Amino acid sequence: MIKIFIFALLINILRYSLFSISIFLLVNKLNPEWIQKLLITNKTINNKQFIDEIKDSSISIVVYSVVMTITYYLFQTGNSNLELNPTHYNLLEIVFTVTILMIVHDTYFYWTHRLLHFGLLNKHIHRTHHLSNQTTALTSLRFHPIEAFIEALIIPISIYIIPVNIYDLSLFYFLVYLFNAYGHSGVEIHRVGFPKNNALKWFSTSVHHYQHHKYPPYNFGLYFTFWDRIMGTLHPKYCKDFRQ
Ligand SMILES: [Zn+2]
Ligand SMILES: [Zn+2]
Repeated sequence: MIKIFIFALLINILRYSLFSISIFLLVNKLNPEWIQKLLITNKTINNKQFIDEIKDSSISIVVYSVVMTITYYLFQTGNSNLELNPTHYNLLEIVFTVTILMIVHDTYFYWTHRLLHFGLLNKHIHRTHHLSNQTTALTSLRFHPIEAFIEALIIPISIYIIPVNIYDLSLFYFLVYLFNAYGHSGVEIHRVGFPKNNALKWFSTSVHHYQHHKYPPYNFGLYFTFWDRIMGTLHPKYCKDFRQ
């Protein structure tokens, strides 16, 4: 079991380094001119926050690795829907399955996130994530250990809810990590036309999550905005922080 845990730990450290630390270094340390043009705000962040984000994220990495190890042993029992050596698959099927996984994850995230904003859960658990009022890519794994456990449950959920193969799962987790780092980076690649477009407005953006940290009762979704739109939790001035 210890070998699987160490392997999971290495995967999670690699994930945090590739997606969060590299984007953080690019945006907050190198800060080239082309990035400066994409920043949502010019407010500066002190070094203490970066250190605290790495400390809290390190604990989350351990929690995620424990959940991955348990999931591996559950998978060994043979009851999951995960296919490790698929005999037939095509790109269209992979895109379809990954879209379903993202809708399931977005729904799970929206409702657990709303729950975490209630009373004692907010005060004692979700507060850790919101200590970063101004986020960086390093904030993406800054959770209280209980919240990290809740977030990591998407790992067993993703192999038990719908039939998936290893390619679906790999693409899904690549997008999860990339989107999480982008959502906290403080950089917005889209212009104001994006949230105003009838087809594109359903997809979430970095501004969407930036506003969640700035105005916590709003914008709870992850990849999409449909739960926020249906439940009336989309910030009324969602478009105002985009570039023209
Ligand atoms: Zn956040
Ligand atoms: Zn929150």
